[in-house]
Amino acid sequence: MTERSEPGPPATSGGLSPRAAEEVVELCAELIRIDTSNPIKPERPAAEYVAEKLAEVGIESTILESEPGRASVVARIDGADPMRPALLVHGHLDVVPAEPADWQVHPFAGEIKDGCLWGRGAIDMKDMDAMVLAVVRDWARTGRRPARDVVLAFVADEEAGGAKGARYLVDHHPELFEGCTESISEVGGFSVEIAGKRLYPIQTAQRGMAWLELTATGRAGHGSLPNPTNPVTALAETVARIGRYDWPIRLIDSVREFLAEVATTIGRPLDPEALASDTDGLGGLGSVIAAMVRNTANPTMLEGGYKINVVPQVAKARIDGRYLPGYRDEFFATIERLLDPQVTYRVVHEDIAIENPWDTPLVTAMTDALHAEDPEGRAVPYCLFGGTDDKSFSRLGIVGYGFSPLRLTPDLDFAGMFHAVDERVNLDALRFGVRVLDRFLTSC
Ligand SMILES: [Zn+2]
Repeated sequence: MTERSEPGPPATSGGLSPRAAEEVVELCAELIRIDTSNPIKPERPAAEYVAEKLAEVGIESTILESEPGRASVVARIDGADPMRPALLVHGHLDVVPAEPADWQVHPFAGEIKDGCLWGRGAIDMKDMDAMVLAVVRDWARTGRRPARDVVLAFVADEEAGGAKGARYLVDHHPELFEGCTESISEVGGFSVEIAGKRLYPIQTAQRGMAWLELTATGRAGHGSLPNPTNPVTALAETVARIGRYDWPIRLIDSVREFLAEVATTIGRPLDPEALASDTDGLGGLGSVIAAMVRNTANPTMLEGGYKINVVPQVAKARIDGRYLPGYRDEFFATIERLLDPQVTYRVVHEDIAIENPWDTPLVTAMTDALHAEDPEGRAVPYCLFGGTDDKSFSRLGIVGYGFSPLRLTPDLDFAGMFHAVDERVNLDALRFGVRVLDRFLTSC
């Protein structure tokens, strides 16, 4: 935990050293070179790297392990106004695995090519980890500091749900986050170019997660005899009904506002009912929008039977279900309605949906920082179709926003880069992010 001995005056906007904008590329490249593919490569070496980069400039941190190797790093930096609640800035250290044969460059080489830094984690989310490090290292070297106390958490295991990272810290070390009321982290603040204009979706909402297991039971018997209670048939019918179900459009506040901004940007109205097909001029945003406006339930696994001439007694399926904030009850009521009488379900894993306000001083500080560095860009709220560690930190009452600012070149599709081959980020996006984060953290 950090107690910097001689904190300097509060920082002013735009006061970052040019050195920070250069250092961020090196920090990100070095983090990419530390392979932290979850679960095969534990985060410990990356956590030690982060702790060392903080220690180099006099910031103390603590490494915590949920189990051997599964390490997270936490540090606290004093703000100009110690009376105000603290802000949590969290980023995960793990990445999803990458298959080198599929890539143009080695995914763990941290190579620079065509103005971009390439590698697993360049977008998700060693970019943000490096940007945060670059900013706080610059503050430490120049004696600047954030507007209020900042708690930094570089955590393990986000890609597998966070049980060995954020959730572990929340359950076993809540004292580390004492006084934190709000947070920023991944999947928001990146630019999306449509109709020649740049939007910066800031994540204010997340869908909830409901992973289900369906079990069909019937009478086992010989495969040559008629069997009206065959569980494979009942399961197949249920799975088909769920998979083909046309979930109704439900517009939550952040999505309504997002769609209005997109409509203004492309210069024509958007019909929410037609969003699945009406993606003209929306580029990579089309599929993202389709998942923001409804609950979804996708059958993903099937299991049943052991021999071609035997009707089994049981057959099972798994469903990846996601519900919008406020539509959990509707989700489960619908699933129950779609079940065959022979089929029951149980929830294998569930995590909450989140919707946070847009009209707050914290969000204003984000949009001001973005607009100061990109006056033509426009910040908009949006709902993430998946989930992040914000779900874990919300258990401590922390209101989390997705804000990892990047000004991407138009050819880089943010959503398309996630967990994809040739994941990369343009170097200027990282430098932009450092400047925006510095403005935000010293003013929020
Ligand atoms: Zn991520």
